Amino acid sequence: MLPWLTALLVLFVSSLYFPFHSNSHVLLDQARSNASRILLLTAHPDDECLFFAPTVLALREHPAHPEIFSLTLSIGNAAGFGEVRKEELSRSLDVMGIDQDNRWVVDHPMLQDNMTLEWDASVIAVVIAPYVVDNHITTILTFDTQGISSHPNHYSLPFGAWDLANILRAKAPEPTSFSVPRVFSLVTVPLLSKYAGVLAPLSSRMNMILQRVLNRFTQSDGNQQAVFTSGFTQYVTAVRAMQKHTTQLEWFRYLYVTFSRYMWINDWVEVKSLGKN
Ligand SMILES: [Zn+2]
Repeated sequence: MLPWLTALLVLFVSSLYFPFHSNSHVLLDQARSNASRILLLTAHPDDECLFFAPTVLALREHPAHPEIFSLTLSIGNAAGFGEVRKEELSRSLDVMGIDQDNRWVVDHPMLQDNMTLEWDASVIAVVIAPYVVDNHITTILTFDTQGISSHPNHYSLPFGAWDLANILRAKAPEPTSFSVPRVFSLVTVPLLSKYAGVLAPLSSRMNMILQRVLNRFTQSDGNQQAVFTSGFTQYVTAVRAMQKHTTQLEWFRYLYVTFSRYMWINDWVEVKSLGKN
């Protein structure tokens, strides 16, 4: 029993000290791995650090040196703090290491911060098109169709990104991964896993080990889901970024940054088809 407990403890401590990722190459432009240009597409100021920090911080250090961009589709004006929140977003992105020339925030009348409003996919596609095309974006990272927190602004984004990819695919005479960006969704996990907090890296690492053992037995490549896991240093960076969002620092945010899995781990799946029923 003791050796098992010791092994678990070592795994726990190492998972907190050493960030790790699995299948990160899946997100990169595999044909031109040094040219990957990755756009993080978010709905509100603070999405970048509350949900996507493990990925952004890992990509920043990635040996393939992808260029990272950030596009936020509202100024988060639901409570009237939009102009302040724009400044907060800028300071948060400073902490997360995204260049000032590579970040934009949009304030469009049909894409306003609203808890009950689904955004129109065709409007999103039109709004994001110039940023994607002009910057030769190869990969768009955004929410999935559950939006992590079920916020309708969040779960509207993959539909808009997918719409744009389809428009570009139809226009390109010879589609290439360079001219038509691939779209990836951040996986919404079940409620219980969502709040695994500091235990999330341990469970993710155990899953990876288990998956590798299974793959060896079944001689399969396993799933190609990309996973990014923060260590303690990256976690602290994400918390520092969140602290720049002073208008959002209510008591429940402290609970969130303490217990949320998304402060530690991001799982990604590529969008291959998407449509509303
Ligand atoms: Zn949000």
